[in-house]
Amino acid sequence: MFDKTLAELAAGLRKGDFSSVELTSAYLERIKAEDGRYNSFITVTEEQALAQAKAADASIAAGDAGAFTGLPIAHKDLFCTQGVRTSCGSKMLDNFASPYDATVVAKFKQAGAVMLGKTNMDEFAMGSSNESSFYGAARNPWNTDCVPGGSSGGSGAAVAARLTPAATGSDTGGSIRQPAALCGITGLKPTYGRVSRYGMIAYASSLDQGGPMAHTAEDCAMMLNVMAGFDPMDSTCLNREVPDYTATLNEPLAGLKIGLPKEYFSDALDPQIAERVKAAVAEFEKLGATVKEVSLPRTELSIPAYYIIAPAEASSNLSRFDGVRYGYRCTDPKDLEDMYKRSRGEGFGAEVKRRIMVGTYALCAGYYDAYYNKAQQIRRLIQQDFVRVLEDVDVIMGPTTPHPAFRIGEKNNDPVSMYMEDIFTLSLNLAGLPGMSVPCGQVNGLPVGMQIIGNYFAEAKLLNIAHQFQQVTDHHKQAPAGI
Ligand code: GLN
Repeated sequence: MFDKTLAELAAGLRKGDFSSVELTSAYLERIKAEDGRYNSFITVTEEQALAQAKAADASIAAGDAGAFTGLPIAHKDLFCTQGVRTSCGSKMLDNFASPYDATVVAKFKQAGAVMLGKTNMDEFAMGSSNESSFYGAARNPWNTDCVPGGSSGGSGAAVAARLTPAATGSDTGGSIRQPAALCGITGLKPTYGRVSRYGMIAYASSLDQGGPMAHTAEDCAMMLNVMAGFDPMDSTCLNREVPDYTATLNEPLAGLKIGLPKEYFSDALDPQIAERVKAAVAEFEKLGATVKEVSLPRTELSIPAYYIIAPAEASSNLSRFDGVRYGYRCTDPKDLEDMYKRSRGEGFGAEVKRRIMVGTYALCAGYYDAYYNKAQQIRRLIQQDFVRVLEDVDVIMGPTTPHPAFRIGEKNNDPVSMYMEDIFTLSLNLAGLPGMSVPCGQVNGLPVGMQIIGNYFAEAKLLNIAHQFQQVTDHHKQAPAGI
């Protein structure tokens, strides 16, 4: 049962092979028994899950079930969940139970999904390894000495360990695609504005985007059908029709034009990863695609540009955590100033403080033009590079990450080497483009992800491409040893 995809579980529920209560109980038992090894959940919502499963079974029996009714999922712990702790991986929000649901959470509820719990993450989604979480590092099920990636590392680990068939994530600079790659699962970062950010705790508002993480492209399509769409509560959410993402999964790929950016296959890339990605591209050629080299010359500049813009926005977004309105407050403050200082000093972890300081500095009068404005100009050039290349090819393919999962602790004393892990993912967020990570093999027993990048609102095309690949390969079916 735990190896089944969402699509298979949905079929089983419809046929009556098992009920949603049985399915949900089985996953809850498994989380209890196994998650000590992975630390992938921050909160398990057993009671609520069983109540939702019961309601789902009733609607299946009444014949008014939808595609998602009764299916268990987990939410990254930055999606606000009414009455349930929403910690964002931080001590600052350890005591915070949201008074309302994020739009994404509400949509899954309306679709009849069952929430198993909230998954571990880097504090305020800042990180590429899930090590900055207040709740401790999540661990990679393929090797528990290694990171699952970040910041949606709990979601990646939970799906890979078969503790949930699917989970939501958010991606500001790679946080869906990178843990998907390192955990051997499929993840999609949609076009900026495709999925509502309402109730998704803000890290860098012009970059953040929620999306699905699951075993297959088909499952991601089912999830995106629920998640995507206009939301009047998010002014950056675009009012554009939502196609049925499952309807076009089987379209043939003959004539597909693939671009391989030469900058993605540089010395920074582990040669064994390059090999796996090129083998995957060869599969697409067999399916009728043509391949050509393209150039994204500002790829390297995405790291300095991103690591100015994201901290700048974060420094502003995180100013709301002041110990006054909600979240952590220090004990016995001497005066107001002392309360601000100590609440923030004690409530935030080291990486979050580093970002707030970098961001505040970059936004200072006098430095604003040199750093923030310059970074925004580079961002525009990066976006223009993509637009130019995507006039010529349908999609861009390359690696998701330069290396497979690294060891926990390996990059702790060197934030810049951690930032370098984002080299292939950041530029999509700067440009607002959609991208997927799809399993394409292993290196030393650890999974490798291939990234597929498309034009604005090309999610259906990306899912179609990934699905066709998964019809002729079985990398996405591999499970960590012992699972
Ligand atoms: N690793 C990047 C960062 O630390 C991206 C994280 C994310 O996408 N949330 O900012």
